[in-house]
Amino acid sequence: MALTSLLRHQRRELAMKLVKRELRTSPVHSLTGLPEPEIRTLYRMQHDRSPPSGPMPSASSFFSSRKNQAEVTLFGALYRHLGGKRIHRQLSADILMKAHDLYRAVHPDDGDGKGLDFTDAWVIARDLKSGATRFLPCRQCGLDYLIADHVDIPPSCPFCFFRRLRKQKEGR
Ligand SMILES: [Zn+2]
Repeated sequence: MALTSLLRHQRRELAMKLVKRELRTSPVHSLTGLPEPEIRTLYRMQHDRSPPSGPMPSASSFFSSRKNQAEVTLFGALYRHLGGKRIHRQLSADILMKAHDLYRAVHPDDGDGKGLDFTDAWVIARDLKSGATRFLPCRQCGLDYLIADHVDIPPSCPFCFFRRLRKQKEGR
């Protein structure tokens, strides 16, 4: 097999895996280099419908509440655990898939649309690479939590927030 067709085969195979996870067309394109029309065809073959269009989810939607921030932090911690420092330089589809599988083991997709889907995971990985989303160490509990610029919640630890909340409730 010629090198170019081998590469093409590998790209298509990777695109197929990503499409099965319902990753949106533009991230599949950026991870595989496959032309977008070809990706949309793969998507329709796999899911019997067109891939979703419209704007991608943004960092601000992930940090709209403390619960969401904790959820994003959970995924980010798994992703960083598997990818190490590389995650700030490159976005590896392989590590992303492994991290999302681990995340789904903790927070299964119950069909309720809750939790982070694979496209959300890609957006978080992209923002960790660019620095738009980053880890900060919590001086109180020692865990690293995620935060982004221009979000509604204060830049502090979600876990300590929930701990304080519970203490307040118990103190009543
Ligand atoms: Zn904390």
